[in-house]
Parts: sequence; structure tokens; C-alpha cells
Amino acid sequence: MSVEEAREFFRGHGLQPYRGEQVLGWIHRHGVHDYVEMNNLPSDLRAELGNIAPLRRASVADVRRSADGTVKLLLEYSDGNTAETVIMDHDYGVSVCVSSQVGCAMGCAFCASGVGGLVRNLTPGEMLEQVLEAAREVRAAGRERVTSIVLMGSGEPMHNYDNVVKFMSLVNWNKGLGIGYRHITISTCGIVPGIRRLAAEGISVTLSVSLHAPDDETRSALMPVNKAYPVDELVKACRDFADVTGRRVTYEYALIRGVNDSSEHAHRLIALIRGSLCHVNLIPINPVQEAGLARPEANVIQSFVDLLTAAGVSATVRRELGTDIDAACGQLRRRFLKNERGRFS
Ligand code: SAH
Repeated sequence: MSVEEAREFFRGHGLQPYRGEQVLGWIHRHGVHDYVEMNNLPSDLRAELGNIAPLRRASVADVRRSADGTVKLLLEYSDGNTAETVIMDHDYGVSVCVSSQVGCAMGCAFCASGVGGLVRNLTPGEMLEQVLEAAREVRAAGRERVTSIVLMGSGEPMHNYDNVVKFMSLVNWNKGLGIGYRHITISTCGIVPGIRRLAAEGISVTLSVSLHAPDDETRSALMPVNKAYPVDELVKACRDFADVTGRRVTYEYALIRGVNDSSEHAHRLIALIRGSLCHVNLIPINPVQEAGLARPEANVIQSFVDLLTAAGVSATVRRELGTDIDAACGQLRRRFLKNERGRFS
């Protein structure tokens, strides 16, 4: 519930609306999931709330802690579905990578999240729970609060647009987690209408686009979505996004040996995006057993980034975190399904 919805809910039950805001404050700021602990509410109200608005909490089915400080949580929701959340410690703060769907419909060749297809969308509350569990973990570790969110976990956020926008407004709530829109990144495989809608939303979130190839032939072979929204159309939408919002767009480019890592690919990429407000994030691909794709040698990665930089295109190679805990892209859930449950495999 948003604050307005909580107030309305309380009013509808003949209760004082500001009590709804207090309850949300406990949940968002303190991660409290039990009315008994909300000690600024009268005890008869707490008992009544337990009946009219029982609080649910996802259970943490698995926790993996990496030697580098990265933590991966696997949350299990009440219907038995699971989603992954990753907590990353950077020098500028703590970021949380949130999943927007259980599974994914997009079927990218290199991605573990899409292997079993889409199961269902996550609700705004279920996405919020990921952040609340992460915040609890962050507090327990004595670290700073959650400072940024990336919608870069499993799922395609633009396919769950309304829920994602509502989720962002929940974490943005100034009496709750208070995470500024500028510190929220939405990553999309390139759903052009979603990008255009987001540009018109009037919130200054950061857009990240999984490009991975500079031409239709290579991109369509990796990402079926390219057949619906080809490269030129996608990049045009990104340029427009940057123009309308003034925000720099990030292009994700996962380098795959012998597929998209040649100097010709680099030159095409430069021609495609040069002159727009953007940054290229090069990611040595995480090998996925099912897909049989490998990362290039370190010198090939370096030449690729050097070509971009020399042409005036801002580019960096993504620092890797959590490789020892299957932190990337749906890997933990797949392992969980395969080894321990086998429910959807
Ligand atoms: N559906 C959204 C967000 C989830 S994927 C999107 O496509 O952007 C998050 C990022 O991880 C995307 O850039 C995706 O392309 C990338 N990714 C998926 N599998 C990967 C792999 N095996 N190695 C490296 N990056 C991968």
C-alpha cells in the first residue's frame, strides 16, 4: 500500500488515517512485521489490526555471503515461488539488486533467469520485501543503510511496468526508506514503448539498457526481443530518453567470446551511440551452463574498452562481485530449483 492507500484503508475501517502512516513507518523504516512491536499504537488497535490487516512476510529460503561482502538472498513468497536479491557493498554505499518477476519471458540466450520462462509478475509489496530483507541484513552487518536500488535482478521490469513504478514510489517515500529516484536504476532488455513511457513519467530514474550487440543480426541471435524492437529504434528511444530527462543512459554490453567482441563490433557500437549522453558498461559474460557461451580473454576485453574510450565513448568494465556465490542473474534460483526442489524445472 502507498501512504494514501494505507490512510484510506484505515479510514474505511473507522480508524484514524494517520495510524496507517505509522504502521507503514514501522514496516519501511524498522523492518517490523509484527503489530505487537509497534509500541506507539494502542494495544487494542494492534490486536484489531492483526485481524483486519494481517502482515505477511516472505521467508528467506537461502542466504549466500561472498568473501567480498556481497550477499545474495533467495526469498520464498507465500505461494512457494522464489526470487533473488543481491546486496552489494560499494565505496559510495550499499546497492540492492531487485528482481521484478519470477522467471522471465524474454528468452535471452545467455541469461539464466529466462531458462524456465516467466512464472509470474512480482507485486510492488513483494519487491519492497526484497529491499526490506536486504535492509535488515545491512543493519545486522553494521553497515550503512541501503543507498541505491537497481532493478537488474530476474525479470523484465518493463513487462511489469505499473508494479515497478509503484514499487519505486514506495522505496522513495520520504518517511520510509527515502531512496531518491536518482539512485534507482531500471534495466531493460529494450522494450521501446516502456522506455518511452518511463521518459514521460516525470521521475528522474536512471535507465540502463541491455544492448549486448550493435547490429540486428548479432543482437537478434542473442535476444529475441530485438525482432520486435530493432537496434536503431532502441537507440533512438534511448537518445530521446536522455534528451527528455537529462539523465545519462547506460548501455550494458556483455562480452561473449567470438560473438560480439571483435574490433568491428566495437566500431559499430561507436558509430551507433557516439554523441549521445551515455555510458557503456562492459560485462565479461557469466558463463551459463545451459547456454554454452564463454567470456573473451582479458586482452580482448581491454582492447574493446580502449577502442571505445579512444573514440570518446565513455566505457568501463564492470567490477565483478559475488562470483563465488552464484550472485549473477538467476543462477541461485536455478540451482535451488534443480537441486533442492525441482518444482519448475
Ligand atoms: N531484463 C532486464 C533486467 C534483468 S537482466 C534486462 O534485460 O536488462 C540484468 C542484466 O544482466 C542485463 O544486462 C542482462 O543482459 C545481464 N545478464 C544476463 N545474463 C547474463 C550473463 N550470463 N552474463 C552477464 N550478464 C548477464
